[in-house]
Amino acid sequence: MSPDADLLVVGGGPVGLAVAIEGRLAGLSVIVVEPRTTPIDKACGEGLMPGAVAALTRLGVHPDGHTLAGIRYLRGTVVADHLFATAPGMGVKRTVLHAALARRAAELGVLVVPGRAGAVEQDESSVWCAGIRGRWLLACDGLHSTIRRQLDLGVQRRAAGRRFGVRKHFRVAPWTDFVEVHWGKTVEAYVTPVAADVVGVALLGPARHDFDGTLATFTELSSRLGGAPALGPARGAGPLHQQTRRRTAGRVRLVGDASGYVDALTGEGVRVGLAQARVAVSTLESDVHRSNAAYEKAWTASTRDYRLVTSGLLAAAGSPLRRGIVPLAAAAPGLYGAVVERLAR
Ligand SMILES: Cc1cc2nc3c(=O)[nH]c(=O)nc-3n(C[C@H](O)[C@H](O)[C@H](O)COP(=O)(O)OP(=O)(O)OC[C@H]3O[C@@H](n4cnc5c(N)ncnc54)[C@H](O)[C@@H]3O)c2cc1C
Repeated sequence: MSPDADLLVVGGGPVGLAVAIEGRLAGLSVIVVEPRTTPIDKACGEGLMPGAVAALTRLGVHPDGHTLAGIRYLRGTVVADHLFATAPGMGVKRTVLHAALARRAAELGVLVVPGRAGAVEQDESSVWCAGIRGRWLLACDGLHSTIRRQLDLGVQRRAAGRRFGVRKHFRVAPWTDFVEVHWGKTVEAYVTPVAADVVGVALLGPARHDFDGTLATFTELSSRLGGAPALGPARGAGPLHQQTRRRTAGRVRLVGDASGYVDALTGEGVRVGLAQARVAVSTLESDVHRSNAAYEKAWTASTRDYRLVTSGLLAAAGSPLRRGIVPLAAAAPGLYGAVVERLAR
């Protein structure tokens, strides 16, 4: 039976749509299966690193947002600033980012069908799922990927040390062009200006917690927000850390959060996901084994800095060294800047 499309993309979040756009730019036919309607919202700090902005521009995606000049870490009165060296980043509401990606995908002829992927089956020449047959299936179904679980590509993790994230928007004029990471005792508050009158606050921490109660413990941030009204409900996600043994199984490959995620602490998910989307499509070729080996290699290279730096920072944040992280960044701006630049590319 001949396939319905070259690429069957499961999950139409930012990475699924980026894969779809990459596919169309490479001359492939693409069908995306996604249960939710556009624009899709999700818990996210909404800071796009300069590398993510450049990757979106390359795809022809130009969302509106707020310029981000750099990253600021704060603990009490200690402040560490780094201005991005080459180009600014952008704070972009998830719904705005999603709508811009969806517009570009539609413009290029990507077909998005409502549905939720279930069982996957494959033979030598195709793979099918949700009643659709593709030459390849790109699983972009997020942190809790159904496809990853079905193909047993994930690694089980212990419950201890699990972290979660919750985000709210506030109607207030941004007081800064930085992404601010307010460093609390066990929780970080990740603050991103996303529009002329909207600031997003994502709380990252060890367990699900009461958003407003935890936010109140960040006194400097709370006074900046000055009782501004929240816009919409809080959105949560987690556990954040998801590991994979492999990213490929026959004609299926995992991309984006589905392929593994460390933490939101460094605000990297979209940049890394866009880089993965690019190599997930560029490494496709008729020889499945060679193609999968090429994707595994490119995936490892495109996620290496993120995995190493974020894992290292996370380990320090969960240890007695936690108190020293912001003072160290303030005392060693060269080191701090080098780390941020490594992740910003
Ligand atoms: C609290 C928090 C803060 C963050 N802050 C930042 C930040 O500041 N900057 C940054 O770059 N990144 C950040 N991230 C990470 C970023 O949000 C993710 O890396 C990014 O959303 C990954 O995109 P994705 O498309 O892989 O997954 P998702 O955005 O999760 O999209 C997956 C899609 O798959 C769909 N789906 C799920 N199951 C199925 C199924 N069975 N069939 C079909 N479709 C399915 C879902 O409906 C969804 O639309 C943050 C994450 C969290 C949790």
